[in-house]
Amino acid sequence: MLEAKGLMVFYENMLALNNVHIRCEEHQIVGIFGANSAGKSTLMYTLSGIIEDIRKKEQMAGGERITVLGEISYMGMNIIDLKPSMRARKGLVLCPERRRIFKESTVLENLLIGGYLASSSQAKATLEYVFNVFPALAKLKKRIGGFLSGGEQQMLAIGRALMAQPKLLLLDEPLLGLSPLMQAILIRGTREIRDQKGLTIIVTEQYARPVLPIVDHAFILENGAAVMEGTRQELMSNPDVRSAYFGV
Ligand code: ATP
Repeated sequence: MLEAKGLMVFYENMLALNNVHIRCEEHQIVGIFGANSAGKSTLMYTLSGIIEDIRKKEQMAGGERITVLGEISYMGMNIIDLKPSMRARKGLVLCPERRRIFKESTVLENLLIGGYLASSSQAKATLEYVFNVFPALAKLKKRIGGFLSGGEQQMLAIGRALMAQPKLLLLDEPLLGLSPLMQAILIRGTREIRDQKGLTIIVTEQYARPVLPIVDHAFILENGAAVMEGTRQELMSNPDVRSAYFGV
């Protein structure tokens, strides 16, 4: 479904992604694990194309030069030159790190904004679906986004991404800073979404352990390079990976 080859991203002279090669098959959940600054968000920005927006903004502000090289093949097309909005239209949708919801808008408004690419019948059905996967959100429809807890904001961020009708959903550190209980709710929801909607999901996390049960395949990022990959079982049986990333 998606294959990225030879991805290189420079922030000015700093190499943030170094010849990264990853891929995912349809209906898989693929994990990207790595420590702080390993390049997880940069990879998600590059796959979704948001890096182009960041690049232009920096250029206009006279700031650092961002360079992106490599190939991204998504459903048979090379999308490296495609704008992020076009990628989203083709179903490649990013749910960004740190839950960038609209803090002044209500839960319902946030979701409806997310549905701007959807037909009204799709939006209606997806809205119902989001409330079904995350029942807690259904009770908070009129609540202002900024007043939600961290976990509720993450549910909303995922819900909003679903409203854009993704085929491949990019989830950037969805569990960051959440309690184990909230993490479990989000992990269950993520698996349900894949199973019920037939989506493909790429999820990044610093700590692999909570995500591991739902991941089919994973890549380990270190200093901007994908240094290891394998199925869940393969990674679990590697003692170095286990101690560094799984805390076991
Ligand atoms: P975290 O878990 O801390 O979010 P990450 O794995 O997502 O980390 P990135 O945010 O992709 O890592 O950062 C990779 C490297 O690129 C880091 O060294 C970071 O400081 C640097 N970096 C990220 N964004 C920029 C930017 N806009 N300008 C300059 N350097 C950047």
